[in-house]
Amino acid sequence: MIATTGKTNLLGLTQPEMEKFFDSIGEKRFRAGQVMKWIHHFGVDDFDAMTNVSKALRDKLKAIAEVRGPEVVSEDISSDGTRKWVVRVESGSCVETVYIPQGKRGTLCVSSQAGCALDCSFCSTGKQGFNSNLTVAEVIGQVWIANKSFGSVPATIDRAITNVVMMGMGEPLLNFDNVIAAMHLMMDDLGYGISKRRVTLSTSGVVPMIDELSKHIDVSLALSLHAPNDELRSQLVPINKKYPLKMLLESCRNYMSSLGEKRVLTVEYTLLKGVNDHVDHAVQMIELLKDTPCKINLIPFNPFPHSGYERPSNNAIRRFQELLQQAGYNVTVRTTRGEDIDAACGQLVGQVNDRTRRSSRLIAARELNAETDLAQNAAAQP
Ligand code: SAH
Ligand code: SF4
Repeated sequence: MIATTGKTNLLGLTQPEMEKFFDSIGEKRFRAGQVMKWIHHFGVDDFDAMTNVSKALRDKLKAIAEVRGPEVVSEDISSDGTRKWVVRVESGSCVETVYIPQGKRGTLCVSSQAGCALDCSFCSTGKQGFNSNLTVAEVIGQVWIANKSFGSVPATIDRAITNVVMMGMGEPLLNFDNVIAAMHLMMDDLGYGISKRRVTLSTSGVVPMIDELSKHIDVSLALSLHAPNDELRSQLVPINKKYPLKMLLESCRNYMSSLGEKRVLTVEYTLLKGVNDHVDHAVQMIELLKDTPCKINLIPFNPFPHSGYERPSNNAIRRFQELLQQAGYNVTVRTTRGEDIDAACGQLVGQVNDRTRRSSRLIAARELNAETDLAQNAAAQP
């Protein structure tokens, strides 16, 4: 567990909150914009580097505030350009963040919770159970860390991160307030300036919170469908028992129409061999979605140990895609990226916490060895 410092962490403050903070310490509100640019555009966490802020104010800030992202446990870069970070959050758990470059697009897949309570049967995060909600600083901190890794350029120039998807670990709608605040920071010009069309929240279907969403933000929405009927969906995505398909699709349609412009829902469908990949399932899906303008993203199952599921063959995946396409749907198949670093977005590996514990044990062991070496060297000195 990381000790809390008692200082205000400015990383997680939205613009109105930052202005309130400067107000509360008797400073001018325009300081909010200056400091936010240092933090989010330039990746600065040291107040002394904020050169357009007076020395007196910098000293004041050092005493009462901090800019603290989650601790980076590891950073891996795949041969295909995919990057993966494991970060440790305040609760002591680790979560993953993945960056996927694709042509002119760079998509960052961000986690919202450590673990997840919803226990979808094919999801490694679900197998961990729920551990903690990430704070605003921990959610936006993942963007901050990734952005810094491309060199500290202003976020609006040559930005490497063009899209953010809340498809890492956790159910974003069950950490509502923190995720909303972090998404505002992603879109704010004083934050990362990403267009609202390019910030996507993915949900397994927490209906009351989908209904609440449009009152707070207008980001893109992805629905994790995974089955075309209630019976099967309740087995795969247990929250379906509480909020069945009819209710769920209506809520998604309402949200999309509240956006007031032509934007369509993304429907995600993880293909599980022999479970939801039959011709019948495609036929049912065509019927189910006929009144819901959407594009469909098929995700071939990413296996993990003891999951009990398999990825369908490429032929089966293609057949499923073609059936939907023939019915007029726009259907993409997600390709697996970053395989050499275990980075498939949306199936972030559940064993991360075990692995992290193992690697911290290794580090501890190494430090112990180094200390022993030092002690032996010192003892060997004349
Ligand atoms: N909790 C949210 C967002 C995180 S999961 C949600 O469920 O939508 C992001 C996506 O990855 C979801 O569509 C999820 O169902 C899918 N997913 C989870 N485990 C997977 C696996 N092993 N293989 C393929 N897709 C998976
Ligand atoms: Fe949670 Fe999403 Fe995994 Fe379901 S698929 S257990 S909602 S993270």
